[in-house]
Amino acid sequence: MQRYFIPPEQFGAMEATIAGDDAHHLIHVMRARTGDSIIVSNGLNREALAQIASIGKNAVTVKLVEDLPMNAEPKAQVWIAQSLPKGDKMELVIQKGTEVGAARFVPFLSARTVVQYDAKKEAKRLERWRKIAKEAAEQAHRNLIPEVDAPVSWSQLLALAKDADLALLCYEKESRQKLKTALKQAVEKRGGPEGMRILLAVGPEGGFTEQEAEEAERERFQIVGLGARILRTETAGIVGLTCILYETGEMGG
Ligand code: SAH
Repeated sequence: MQRYFIPPEQFGAMEATIAGDDAHHLIHVMRARTGDSIIVSNGLNREALAQIASIGKNAVTVKLVEDLPMNAEPKAQVWIAQSLPKGDKMELVIQKGTEVGAARFVPFLSARTVVQYDAKKEAKRLERWRKIAKEAAEQAHRNLIPEVDAPVSWSQLLALAKDADLALLCYEKESRQKLKTALKQAVEKRGGPEGMRILLAVGPEGGFTEQEAEEAERERFQIVGLGARILRTETAGIVGLTCILYETGEMGG
């Protein structure tokens, strides 16, 4: 069934309004008719089965039929911190990471980031990334849309470790800790994966420098490997995320 995230303010007690691109999609792409059923979510705490009550020129009104349980979210939140990759690879990381179950994406700049950071283009690009997260979350039947942050500096990324229960830095040269062990210890310390926040940092095409790995280690990051094969930057975050969610029982067991 087609699903839409709609802003909480368009969500009433008995009705909801779908506007903008979503209304266009519903009317012109899905060719929706009055009486059709869809699922609507406010992306926060409410998801409902809904029936189309009326179709206007630019908006669709739905009647909320039944609240649905929100049980598609992983117990632990994984934040993928991705050193800005070339081309449109960040879009791939956001789309696939959302499908698998990432809670947040934090693009950052590091010593070997090759992408030129263009503040002027930033707003547009961020808007596009957020749209990709929303659409992937709808497609994957997520209950929440993952957050996408504006790019941060290396030092801001290091500071973010303080907000996480576990901070991991993927480093292909040397694994100083096993991902599984680091995760197990952090989960035990917290008494379970529920609500846990795990930051997973991935370097750019050229990798992290030795100095960056040392700085990260001083800031509470644990340096982990993802196996003997060197993964492309856009692959590493998705693989690390999948390993974490597998270990916390989210990938079908
Ligand atoms: N420039 C390096 C590879 C960098 S891969 C080289 O050619 O040797 C890009 C990023 O993906 C790395 O910074 C790291 O964060 C992650 N990565 C890729 N393969 C990995 C592995 N086997 N273990 C841990 N991290 C890995």
